[in-house]
Amino acid sequence: MLRHRAAALVVMALSLSAAEAAGAAGPAAVAPPPDLTPIQSGVDYHSFANVEQFRVTHLELDLRVDPFFKTLRGVAALQLKRLDPNATELILDTRDLNVSDVTVKAQDVLGATSKSETTWVSRPFHFERKDPILGQALVIELPPSKHSTLLVRIDYETSPTAPALQWLTAKQNGGRHTGFFFTQSEPIGTRSWIPLQDTPQVRQTYSAIIHTSPGVLAVMSAKNDPKAKRNGVYSFDMPEAVPSYLIALAVGDLAFKETGPRTGVYADKSVVKAAAREFADTESMIETAEKLFGPYRWGRYDILVMPPSFPEGGMENPRLSFITPTVIAGDKSLVSVIAHELAHSWSGNLVSNASWRDLWLNEGFTDYIESRIVNAVYGERREMMERVLGLRELDDDLKTLKPADQELAIDLRGRNPDQAFSTVPYEKGRLFLTYLDQQFGREHFDAFLRGYFDHFAFQSISTEQFLGYLQVNLLDRHPGIVTRDQVLEWVTGPGLPADAVLPTSSEFAPVDAARTAWLGGSLTPTQLKAGSSGWVTQQWVYFLDNMPADVSAARMAELDGLFGFTKSTNAEIGRSWFMLVIRHQYQPGYVRLEAYLETIGRRRLIAPLYQELMKTPGGSAQAKRVYALARPGYHPETAAAIDAIVNTTPEDADD
Ligand SMILES: [Zn+2]
Repeated sequence: MLRHRAAALVVMALSLSAAEAAGAAGPAAVAPPPDLTPIQSGVDYHSFANVEQFRVTHLELDLRVDPFFKTLRGVAALQLKRLDPNATELILDTRDLNVSDVTVKAQDVLGATSKSETTWVSRPFHFERKDPILGQALVIELPPSKHSTLLVRIDYETSPTAPALQWLTAKQNGGRHTGFFFTQSEPIGTRSWIPLQDTPQVRQTYSAIIHTSPGVLAVMSAKNDPKAKRNGVYSFDMPEAVPSYLIALAVGDLAFKETGPRTGVYADKSVVKAAAREFADTESMIETAEKLFGPYRWGRYDILVMPPSFPEGGMENPRLSFITPTVIAGDKSLVSVIAHELAHSWSGNLVSNASWRDLWLNEGFTDYIESRIVNAVYGERREMMERVLGLRELDDDLKTLKPADQELAIDLRGRNPDQAFSTVPYEKGRLFLTYLDQQFGREHFDAFLRGYFDHFAFQSISTEQFLGYLQVNLLDRHPGIVTRDQVLEWVTGPGLPADAVLPTSSEFAPVDAARTAWLGGSLTPTQLKAGSSGWVTQQWVYFLDNMPADVSAARMAELDGLFGFTKSTNAEIGRSWFMLVIRHQYQPGYVRLEAYLETIGRRRLIAPLYQELMKTPGGSAQAKRVYALARPGYHPETAAAIDAIVNTTPEDADD
């Protein structure tokens, strides 16, 4: 997932769980006392599932998407492998699900007889007490059995406040004639729409039948058929086994446009052409990654362009990445998000983190591969600029995160796993791999990575499993280069080791020089305009982000007149500019600022703006007023984050 940046905001926001912020009943999560027992490697502390006794191998969904009641309703059938013949309880993860019946194939519980083969029998079940972070364990009673497989059907309905689901009305969907529905489940949201073993260490194939109103199209992280007849019944098959957080569904009035032999874009009709142009390099990105790290093993790679309310930059749903429309800048300057989500086809989706503590195995590797792809497709200049900007955000986070949360594999026991998503697993993870790359040399390191992806393909692994593999296949194979202690300093130490290889770029020095000269009066506006004519998005962001604290209204107006920042359609430049608009109370920018906050729901873009507004009494009043209008259009995750910033309680927001 591309969320990184603004970790301090994420941490702050999660004193409220998303569901509570969205208005569900239940007390706010209170941080428990620290657990001093050693962490058990590979144990997922964020799942109730008894995975040592049963393992889901395949999931079959039959769900009706009901935007009026904001529910999914239907059946989840779980095929399970029974690992313990004496087990008498199957424990699944759920959150606010209304379960009406649980049935089991008779032969699985009663023994095979010719009659029982097609008979289903109801089984007793109950919910355990609700945990504010983890949801509720669903306990299904079963007799002991020597049968090695089991088929369990659960009839259920989701809650309208399910934190992984967003229901946009037609009006919230940019005033189009239909609404839009989507799931965003990472890390532990899947349990709010499917009862299952919601832990990344369990991988399952899945199939689904999705019922919608006719005229809209359903798509999933599975085999999609762009030519599917829009009759309101859609079938899906996902033949590769994936962790639960990668099961995804979206429904909307979607058009499709091919961008390559195995790539294409799903989007609203009004943006599909622009999106296909913006993402035209996807096939060459895949070819680059394949050359480096082995074949793309998922068949097609399509992109679903989400509504602007999508809370993340992108989500690596297999075969179909969900991407924010805020990266469509018109000049491909923000498409490293695509490189990132595509890179997850190796790091994250092929080899997955076994628990959320191991998130850096997904995100650090992915950031590293993203850089390699960006380098190959757009050149080193772009790669280094992006990495320098990324490092600055990591530096900011390291100033606010406590030392234990600066480690790559952090202790998340008793905490919301969302708190793992700071810049640390991303940027520090990328720097760790860059360090290994430099120490061992590109040839050795690439061979190591390729072997790593082959070795652990379609498995979920822990930090310790990675370290064991690294020791044998890189450190021991090329002795005397990097010690185990040096590796451990990266993984279990705070901050950055002194010998980290930090990115540099010569592209920002002229930007600094121009800014200083213009502010000091030695560069005229005309000269500034001429001198900056070749600047790219990353340079403009850097130019704006490093403005001093005392820019006058006249100088703001001068900049706006020269470059039209207020009207910019580049969402990243917009964010940087609106930070200045708020900081310097540049009134002509306010109307567009409010429109920006009301249309975009990507947390990374809007959370800092709300935070900046809250610094003054006038700004705080404005923030509350805009937020009251915008909140119904935000995803529950975004609403939870902004609630915490503008100090809105869910009750206030419902008024
Ligand atoms: Zn990611």
